[in-house]
Amino acid sequence: MEDKKFARIIGYARVSTSRQANNGYNLDEQCKRIDQYVELFFDKGKYSLEIYRDAGASAKNLDRREMSKIMKMAKNKKFDILVIHNLDRLTRKVVDLGRLLTLFQENDIKLISIQERFDMNTTHGKLIANVLSSVAEWELETIRTRTQRAIIEAAEEGKYPKPRAPFGYRRDPEDNSHLIIREDQAEIVRHAFQIMIDGSMTEFEYALKLKQEKALGRKWCDKLLYKMIRNKIYYGTLELYGKDYPDCAPVIISKSDFAKANAMRSKSRTTVRHNYIYKNVARCSKCGSYLTLTCTTNSRGQVFLYYKCPTCNKSINQNLITEQVEPLFSDKLQEVKYKKDMVKIQQQYHLAKSQIKRLSYAYVKYCLDEETVSELVLAAEMNKGRLETDMQKLKRDVQTVNFMDLSRSERIDFYREYVDNISINFKSKDAKIHWKK
Ligand SMILES: [Zn+2]
Repeated sequence: MEDKKFARIIGYARVSTSRQANNGYNLDEQCKRIDQYVELFFDKGKYSLEIYRDAGASAKNLDRREMSKIMKMAKNKKFDILVIHNLDRLTRKVVDLGRLLTLFQENDIKLISIQERFDMNTTHGKLIANVLSSVAEWELETIRTRTQRAIIEAAEEGKYPKPRAPFGYRRDPEDNSHLIIREDQAEIVRHAFQIMIDGSMTEFEYALKLKQEKALGRKWCDKLLYKMIRNKIYYGTLELYGKDYPDCAPVIISKSDFAKANAMRSKSRTTVRHNYIYKNVARCSKCGSYLTLTCTTNSRGQVFLYYKCPTCNKSINQNLITEQVEPLFSDKLQEVKYKKDMVKIQQQYHLAKSQIKRLSYAYVKYCLDEETVSELVLAAEMNKGRLETDMQKLKRDVQTVNFMDLSRSERIDFYREYVDNISINFKSKDAKIHWKK
């Protein structure tokens, strides 16, 4: 080829029944054409050619013996060029073709289809590849919408349409679509709600207790309990795409207990200020020691939290630290959340935009039929509009993120990820954040 580099070429031939001929080409004839093509367009000694044959394999999916081998080799960049006789030897489904083309593009593999004169090395070939992957994306999206509709319908019939039964339940073996209570787990659910209601422990403490007891032989973290407390399924209601569907599971917790537990929980969240927030991160700027914790109570029962350097014997009130670090921590949290979510949305947004462009271009240049294109463009436009709304919503949401609202474990995660330490200067009462590099 033009760059005169050695090319590892793979050929692929397929027939659906062992004796069937395709457009007059059976397996042997396909192989012969591939051979001839390669001989004609590549210099002798500058390539290797190996042909894989799937006999008696249908093109309804990619689950074929030799095809799977080729896909695996593509993932490992084991060849440079794939030559086929015509495109439907690869697959008859646009979705699969799109997926294959993406795989090839990602691994720098060229696809040559002799009959269609399709060569991914040319701009023409690249464009077709792009259009095909757009169509594939759109088909996947349609499948997704269809699945979503099926899920909602199931929920309306009182079935549980999600793949995994929530903690406390198992699937009814009779019909596999309804939930029944799993008593050993349900007991923990009831206990967790009770603890929230009477305020005897935080979910962090309860998770710790379960962990120590190795309850049910599982791993326990407070996130799991936090999710449990908020899951409406325990009073039978399934929340799907922002809507509630009642009677999707047998009741473990009454609706009023659910409300009580959640009210208590948000109340305890606002009292987070009464914990030692800077435990294990506050250090003395002079000697580097980690600060120890002390507290005093005044005559009216008010609690004051202090951090003390055990070496220098100086201390500082927690509120003084909070005043200085809280705005910066909140900023950081907002930035992180914004970046992470925005990047995701923006990627999808640009994809939708380029999809629309590619489709209109393909329409003009390759005379795709109007109905198909307008349907595809409409779907992409709607998607784009939705993403624009998402971006605006994220911009608003992000402003409400506050460091003081973090749960204890979220705070620990935040420190672990971003904060090396807070160094306290006892003389000037300055708290300086040292971020992780
Ligand atoms: Zn010190």
